[in-house]
Amino acid sequence: MRSRLFTGICAILLAVGLLSGTRALAGPPPAEAAYQKARRAYYSFRNDKERRKFRHNWKNVAAKFEQLVDGFPKSSRVPDALFTAGRLYHDLYLISRLPADLDHSIELFGKLVKDFPGDHLADDAQLFVAMAWIELKKNQGKAKEALAYLVEHFPDGDVAPKARRMLEDLGGTAAAVKKPSAAKKPPVNQVQKDNSAKHAVLEKIRHWSNPGYTRIALYTRAKVRYKVGRLAADEKQGTPPRLYIDLAACELGDELTRPEPVQDRVVSRVRFAERDDGSLRVVLDLGGKNSYRVFPLDTPERVVVDITRGQDDEDAVARVIGQKLPKKPTRAEVAKLKKKSKPGVSLSMMAGLKIKCVAIDAGHGGKDPGAIGSSGVFEKKIALKIAKRVAELIKKNLKLDVILTRKGDYFVPLEGRTAIANEHNADLFVSIHLNAHRNRKFRGVETFYLDLTDDRYSIKLAARENATSEKSISDLKYILADLALKSHVDDSIRLSRLVQKNIVRTLRSHYKQVKGLGIKPALFYVLIGARMPSILIETSFITNPLDEKRLKSTAYQKRLAEGIVAGIAEFIKERDKFLDP
Ligand SMILES: [Zn+2]
Repeated sequence: MRSRLFTGICAILLAVGLLSGTRALAGPPPAEAAYQKARRAYYSFRNDKERRKFRHNWKNVAAKFEQLVDGFPKSSRVPDALFTAGRLYHDLYLISRLPADLDHSIELFGKLVKDFPGDHLADDAQLFVAMAWIELKKNQGKAKEALAYLVEHFPDGDVAPKARRMLEDLGGTAAAVKKPSAAKKPPVNQVQKDNSAKHAVLEKIRHWSNPGYTRIALYTRAKVRYKVGRLAADEKQGTPPRLYIDLAACELGDELTRPEPVQDRVVSRVRFAERDDGSLRVVLDLGGKNSYRVFPLDTPERVVVDITRGQDDEDAVARVIGQKLPKKPTRAEVAKLKKKSKPGVSLSMMAGLKIKCVAIDAGHGGKDPGAIGSSGVFEKKIALKIAKRVAELIKKNLKLDVILTRKGDYFVPLEGRTAIANEHNADLFVSIHLNAHRNRKFRGVETFYLDLTDDRYSIKLAARENATSEKSISDLKYILADLALKSHVDDSIRLSRLVQKNIVRTLRSHYKQVKGLGIKPALFYVLIGARMPSILIETSFITNPLDEKRLKSTAYQKRLAEGIVAGIAEFIKERDKFLDP
C-alpha cells in the first residue's frame, strides 16, 4: 500500500519535472507545489495523534520531503525539506529508539550543513547533530567536533552563543578541536544568500493571557527596529482602541496571512498590514483601558508586548489592592498608602495579600540542555527533578497550589515561563538552575533577583542563562531602566535572602564543605515581566566535580528542595506575622 502510494507520488513529481522545462502557464513551479504538498501532509500528520503512533506514517511524511530533495536538488526549498525530514527522523527516534532512525536524521541535517552552509537553518541543523551526539549517542568526542564546527562556521548565528557555552562545558574550544574533514568554507554566493535570508520576517506569534494581562511575542527571525503607538477607538467606524507596533523593514511570514485571534478580555485579535515604507504594522485590537510595555529579546529575535488592563500609573498599588478590596481605592487612598509605606514592607503586604500559588520553573528543557557536567549530565534534567520535588513539598507541607512551567523534557521559551506564572496568577516565581563556570574549582549555592546591575559576574551568568551575549545584556539594561520592574523588588530580595539562607543551612546539616555565595541582582530574561516576587536559584555548579557528584544524587536533590521550600515557608511566615500580629 505504502510503496504503491510512493510510486504514485514519484510518478507525479517526475511528470511535473519533465514538463517544467516548457512550462509557460501561471501557477506555482513544480518544486514549490511539491513542497507545499509535503508541508500540508506534515501539518495534518502533526495534528493527528492516531497516525503519529505508527512508524510507517512518520517515514511516509519524511519521504515526501526527501523526494523533493532528490527530485529538485536546485530548489530553494531543499534546505527546508532536509531540515523537516531531519526533525521527523529525530523525533521518530525518540519513540522508536532505533539507531538507524537517529543516524538517518544526522545524515539529513549533515547534508543541509554541507550543501547549504549559507541557509539560515544550517546552524540549527548543526546544533541538532551536536545534541544527538551528546544526548542520545553519549559520544562527547563527536559532540565536541560538531560544536566546534558550528562555532567556527556560524560564529554570528543565533545558536552560536549556546554552542560556545556547551563546548566550554565539555572542556573543548573551537580552535583546539580538529575540523571534520568535510569542513569547507561556504561558497561566496551562498554567503550572500545568507545575508538576504536574515531580513526580518514576522514568522510566528505566541500569546499568553489571563483576565487582566496579555503577553504577545512577535518572532522576527532577524533583529528589527520598532515604533509603538496608540490609536483611539473610532465609534463611527466601529473600531476598538488599538495599539500598533511598526516593525521596520519587515515582511509577513507565510504562516501569518490571517488575523490572529487572541480573544481574551485584554486583546481581541492581532492584525497585520504591510506598509509602503517597507515596514510591517502589527495592530492589536484592545478590549478597553490598558497600559503596555514593549521590549526586545534575542536568540531568537522577538519583540515582546505586555498589556495590562487598567491604568498602570496608579501602578501596582491599585492593582494589588483591587484584588483584595471589594472596591477600587481612590487616588487619595492610593497616595495615603504610598506615604505610609516603610522600608521592608512591600505593597502586596500592605494590601494584605495571602500567598496561594507558587510557580516553579525548571530551567532550560528540550533543545536547550543548559549547562553540561563533565560526565555528560544535563542541567535541564536535574533542574526538573529538583523542581518536581519542590512542587511536591509545597503542596504537601505548605498546602499551596503549584504551577510547574514545564513538566517534562521540552522547550519553553523564556518569556513563556513568566507568562505562564502570570496567567495562573501565581504569587511567587521560583526558577531552578544549575551553575557552570569555565574554572572547575568554582562551587557553591547562590540566589538571584531581577534588578539592574553592572556586576561583571552577574552579567556573564545572565548571558549564559539567557543563551545570549554579554552585549545584549548591557543593551537590555537601558531598555529595562524604564520598565516598572521595581514593584516587586523588595519582596524579591527578601525571598532570595530567605531561600538562600535555608538552602545553605539545610545542606550544611547533611554535607561538609557547603559554600554559600549569597544573593545578587541579575538581569534574567526569565524574570522580566513577572507580576510577582521572583527569584532564580543556581543550586550548585555542575562543572565542579564535587558539586556535580552531589547534584546527581537523589539525596542531594532532596535536601536542595527541602531548603528551597523552607525558605519559601519562612517568607510566608514573616508576611503572615505582619498581616496578623
Ligand atoms: Zn540554567
